[in-house]
Formats: sequence, structure tokens, C-alpha cells
Amino acid sequence: MSKVKIGVLALQGAVAEHIRSLELAGADSMAVKRVEQLDELDGLVIPGGESTTIGKLMRKYGFIERIREFHAAGRPLFGTCAGLIVLAKRIEGQEESHLGLMDISVARNAFGRQRESFETDLPIKGIDEPVRAVFIRAPLIREAGANVEVLATYNEEMVTAREGRLLVSSFHPELTDDYRLHEYFAGMVREARSGEAKG
Ligand code: GLN
Repeated sequence: MSKVKIGVLALQGAVAEHIRSLELAGADSMAVKRVEQLDELDGLVIPGGESTTIGKLMRKYGFIERIREFHAAGRPLFGTCAGLIVLAKRIEGQEESHLGLMDISVARNAFGRQRESFETDLPIKGIDEPVRAVFIRAPLIREAGANVEVLATYNEEMVTAREGRLLVSSFHPELTDDYRLHEYFAGMVREARSGEAKG
């Protein structure tokens, strides 16, 4: 079977690091700047950065509808940090969501000023040893719908979760050499693609 191809939305934020981690995880990867590029992809990462800015640029360049279609067609999405906020159905204190695909409510900058950024070893369901997790002005998942599987908590707060073909993490998995969460996502993409081939 040929390698899966996973794009990284490149409107703003940590793009090159995700591409490197995806390649280490055995996928082909590329930066995505135009909606047409989605046609070549099996999965997409929405990186960290500033969710309001990413959301605005997504609207401006027509990514909102196209990524919803991409997901509806069976392709997995992985949102990290700001990307988690972009995928959420509900954002605390804001009227509007961005993609609004995942049944979670999120709080932005939820760790407060004292803990703007920190690192920890985080046990994640489905991954053997704890993953080195870098949190930067990170969001938290405050509520998760019945179909959301929580994969990791930090101080009893939800920081990694999956719902069907959607994966999110509060932290930045691309900023360390530990690419196992990218490997997990590549597995979801492979599974989705083989399901598609059969169906
Ligand atoms: N605080 C940012 C936001 O609310 C997310 C931070 C990040 O992606 N590192 O969009």
C-alpha cells in the first residue's frame, strides 16, 4: 500500500515542525495554502497558532466549507492547540465557532498567566509510554459529547480526545522529537483510507 498523504494547513502557525513529525511517522506531507490541494490528501493537520487569525484566514480563502466537505468525505482531521479550538463546536465566551465539527466545548488560554507555557510527560490512551507534551497558552476541553473518547487528561482536565475521524490535542506534539501522536493520527488516516477503498 502506498504511503498516506497528510497535509498541514499553512495559513499561520507551526507548520514545518508538523511536516517533519508526519514524515518521521511514515506519511508523506506538505504545506497546504490553497483549497485545491485538499484533493490530493488523505488527512489534514490544523496546527497551533492563533485560532482567531487562523479562523479568519480560513474564511477568507474558502477553507471552512472545503474542510467540512473533506471531513464528510471520510478524511481525518487533527487539530493541535489553536487547531483544537478551530475544530470545536463551542468556544467559551464566543458566539461563533470556526469549523464546528467536534462535539466539545473549549476554553481558550485556560491555564492562565502563571502557566503560559510548560512541558510534561503525558500518558495517552493507545500509546505505550507517556508523550512529552509542550503546552503554550493552551486551551482545555471543558465538555465532551457522548461520542468523544478522552485520550488524555492533565490535572483531571481533558487535553487529548478523539471523535470518529477527528483528533485533538491541547498541546503541541510537533515541538519535540516524540512523533507518536502523529503516528497515531497516521494510523487513523490509513484506516480511513482502507475503509474508503473497500466501501
Ligand atoms: N491561545 C491560542 C488561541 O487561543 C492558542 C495557542 C497555541 O496554539 N499555542 O488561539
